[in-house]
Formats: sequence, C-alpha cells, structure tokens
Amino acid sequence: MPRPKKHYGQHFLHERGVIERIVAAIAPQPGDRVVEIGPGEGALTLPLLKAAGHLTAIELDTDLIEPLCARAAGVGELEVIHADALKVDLSALAKGGKLRLAGNLPYYVSSPILFHCLAHADAITDMHFMLQKEVVDRMAAAPGGKVYGRLSVMLQLACKVEPLLRVAPGAFRPPPKVESAVVRLTPLPPDQRPDPALAHAIDAVVRAAFNQRRKTLSNALRGLMDAAAIDAAGIDPRMRAENVAPRGYVALAQRMPASGLQPGPNLADNASQ
Ligand code: SAM
Repeated sequence: MPRPKKHYGQHFLHERGVIERIVAAIAPQPGDRVVEIGPGEGALTLPLLKAAGHLTAIELDTDLIEPLCARAAGVGELEVIHADALKVDLSALAKGGKLRLAGNLPYYVSSPILFHCLAHADAITDMHFMLQKEVVDRMAAAPGGKVYGRLSVMLQLACKVEPLLRVAPGAFRPPPKVESAVVRLTPLPPDQRPDPALAHAIDAVVRAAFNQRRKTLSNALRGLMDAAAIDAAGIDPRMRAENVAPRGYVALAQRMPASGLQPGPNLADNASQ
C-alpha cells in the first residue's frame, strides 16, 4: 500500500461503520451514474460500485489507479479518469443525463471542487461530500449566526444543503487535524436558482456585504448601491450582512445599478468568509 501523500490531501477512510453510513446515505441504485471524486484506495468506491454496478472515479494520483482497478475486478464496471477533478467537464461526462457525485474530498482543494461541481448543477442529481466539519457548518448556517457568511449564501442559493454525519479524525489514515462531516447537496431546479445573468451582481453584493460584516448594509455596500436602492430591494439598509437571507441578496443584486458591477475573483478562490 503506497504511503498516503500529504500534498494530495490523502486521508483514507478505514472505519467500517462510517463507510457504511455514508453508502447508506447515498443509497446508490442499480443504473445510477455515480461519479466519485478522489477514490483513493477504494473505501467508498467498492461498496458504491457493488450497489450501482458501474462507477466513474476521478483520481489525480497515478500510483493509486492500478491497485484500485485490481480491487474492483469482479465487483462492477469501474472507469477511472486519471485527472484533476477541476479539469473534468462533468456536463460532458453526463452525456445529457444526470450524475450522482460522491467523494471524501481532498481538503486542500475542496472549495474549488465544490464550485466546479456547482457550475455543472444541471448535470447533477445530488452530491455527497466529506469535508471539514467547519466548512459544512458554514455551508448550512442559517442567517443570524457568526458562521453564516458568503459560503452559506452562495451554496444555499444553488442547492439544498443537508449536513448528514460528523466523522472523527480517527476514522481516517492518517487522521486529519480537524473533524470532518458529510453533507448532501441537491441542486435546486433551475427555476428556483437565481437568473444566471445576475451571477456577477450577486457575487459583488455578497462579497462587499460580508467583507465588512460588522457594518450596516448601507455602509458595507457603499460604492455598489445606495440606501434607497437597498430599501427598494425590500431590505432595511440598517441591517448587517449576517441577518440577510440568501434570497435577500438576490433582491439586492436585482436593484444594483450596472455601474457597481466589477466581477471579482471566484468564491472558490477563498471561501473562508
Ligand atoms: N475516497 C478515499 C477514502 O475515502 O479513503 C480517499 C479520500 S482522500 C481524502 C482524497 C483523494 O483525492 C485521494 O485519493 C487523492 O489522491 C485524490 N485527489 C487529490 N487531489 C485531487 C484532484 N485535484 N482531483 C482528483 N482527485 C484528487
């Protein structure tokens, strides 16, 4: 067994009970088009493959691919794509159908992978990902709390977010320094997601609001929109970012004058806010 590589974020699941709970949460059915990101040594791959009959795995580490294929022999039809998950066109992989994504994601690149998947939301039925628990808490946070932020808003505008289970470091080899959690993300139907034409405005307004989350919206959004425009969106300009629900940001973006639009870097670059 090759030594786990830190630079690939390799922490292999070994606790049977945790593996069984994740597979039960995914509940793969024969014929499902399951795609696993980062199969590693196959802890999730093999039971998922057994249940679905076919699985596509995307793995970056060359050394893991041959042993994985050997382990999968006779279990089901395994297709391995040797690539960086960020470079895989998931919509093309779906071939007009829908994918079920799963993965114990490498934490060093988990936010970019998450947002890469969201960019292909129309080709995805659901996603079950293991992430740092702290990230899952922020993804699922409701308005009003300290952890509610940019990640919460952007995720909740695109998906239903359901934290499923917490996983202690001892379930992995080697154990990571932090607690982990599994989350289910179900993309909302297109008519319940914001108009793609508003994407830049939403990004700008959410970024500005949470960059200065202690300030009132009228101060934090200065330069993007004035108090009258905030008010016209149905939002009290004296509110703070953390008290505005995700749909409130859509309303603000709709009222933002075009002059305020300066596309910034993608949230995936830094989802820490
Ligand atoms: N699924 C296995 C498990 O649960 O034991 C392994 C999980 S391990 C946390 C992350 C896996 O993602 C490793 O196999 C690693 O080599 C792979 N990986 C790292 N970066 C990747 C990338 N950019 N694209 C695809 N796979 C990647």
